[in-house]
Amino acid sequence: MKNSPDLTPNDVYWEPALETLPEEELKALQLERLKEVINRAASSPFYQKVFKEYKVDPAKIRSLDDLRRIPFTTKEDLRQWYPYGFLTVPKEKLVRMHSSSGTTGKPTVVFYTRRDLDSWANLVARCMYMTGVRPGDVFQNMMGYGLFTGGLGFHYGAEKIGCLVIPAGPGNTKRQLFLMREFETTVVHIIPSYALYVAEVCKAEGIDPKKEFKLRIAFIGAEPHAEGIRQRIEDFFGIDAFNSYGLSEVNGPGVAFECPYKQGMHLWEDAYIVEIIDPETLEPVPEGEEGELVLTTLTREGMPILRYRTRDLTRIVPGKCPCGRTHKRIARITGRTDDMLIIKGVNIYPIQIERVLMDLPEVGSNYLIEVHKKETGDKLSIKVEVKNDFFYEDMRYLEKLRKKIGRKVREEILVTPKVELVEPNSLPRTEGKAKRVIIKENVNY
Ligand code: ADP
Ligand code: ZN
Repeated sequence: MKNSPDLTPNDVYWEPALETLPEEELKALQLERLKEVINRAASSPFYQKVFKEYKVDPAKIRSLDDLRRIPFTTKEDLRQWYPYGFLTVPKEKLVRMHSSSGTTGKPTVVFYTRRDLDSWANLVARCMYMTGVRPGDVFQNMMGYGLFTGGLGFHYGAEKIGCLVIPAGPGNTKRQLFLMREFETTVVHIIPSYALYVAEVCKAEGIDPKKEFKLRIAFIGAEPHAEGIRQRIEDFFGIDAFNSYGLSEVNGPGVAFECPYKQGMHLWEDAYIVEIIDPETLEPVPEGEEGELVLTTLTREGMPILRYRTRDLTRIVPGKCPCGRTHKRIARITGRTDDMLIIKGVNIYPIQIERVLMDLPEVGSNYLIEVHKKETGDKLSIKVEVKNDFFYEDMRYLEKLRKKIGRKVREEILVTPKVELVEPNSLPRTEGKAKRVIIKENVNY
């Protein structure tokens, strides 16, 4: 870690006993909780129907492997049984509702009891504490408040630790910078694509965050991002940036999080059971291989979800983490199964392109992938922002750069894209999750 205070071994865990539980005990705890949650789920209209159809008898769940007798739950199920079909408690016991961002269609809604909110806040506090956040830190939460889980989810976790929370929300970048300077913000939570934009604004305003701010930690998540993006954020702000993963269907943020070693995200196995499956065959993949992440909630009261197909692609990081936590780690998410593009028969994930671009020092902070749908086969083009220092070089230089980018991308994805270089900060930006891919129907390429 770069700027965090030295941590003593006794001071690194929020819940030492749970975070370092030996594997066998962790499994025993999971089994106990799994039985409970399956029993509870049986009272929801959705699982009542599923258990009947698949002849699942909750009393016969005796081992963790027995979980596989239960079919997967999908986003489609959540949509079909919208809004109350997954509830196991009367509506009067609910105290909060959230919703997914709707990135891939109609948003799904989730409900929380008081106990659910408390255990969620506790998980988020565990994540933040793990990275070195302590009472007295000033936490500026630059994620959307409201239905999106990123804002309130972190808010209560940070309060639990005893941080001073600035509920800034996203956008209004100059005000964000003002808050950071004025209140000596030490920790931020921010969408990675927005963090790059904030860096651009700092440059334009002549602000050197290393000198003018007290920042030491950023939590970045909510959208896939390449390691190069983290590097840029860490280098520019002079901080540690930790990858944060979660999804509203199983609470929100706080599902998996990086520890100071940044070698994968610990997925809290006392709260979730993790499976990685082949999205085509639906069979488990061998440990360490990439597949779709499937999660079972172990502690949710109002709306338990079993074997939820997240559509997110990742793998288990093998081996033990040097931090001493025993909970499995998942690797950086490479995308969603539905993000996959097929160009000339080749499967491509946007993050593969991002990885190439972010490793090139000439490339600025934004890019846009366009897929041109044509009867003769789909074509790929990429608009790439070039950094100020390089954009105003002569035409020959830019042409060489354009070709270099095309070549490097082809080496990675085996398809030659059309590359267009554009001015810094000229591509559209969103306050929320970045939109990296645009599909265009039958237009000139
Ligand atoms: P939506 O699925 O509509 O975007 P959410 O707001 O619940 O709704 O977002 C959860 C999704 O965001 C995850 O399923 C995943 O695809 C993405 N996501 C969240 N955190 C990360 C992360 N650290 N890295 C990559 N993707 C992430
Ligand atoms: Zn660790």
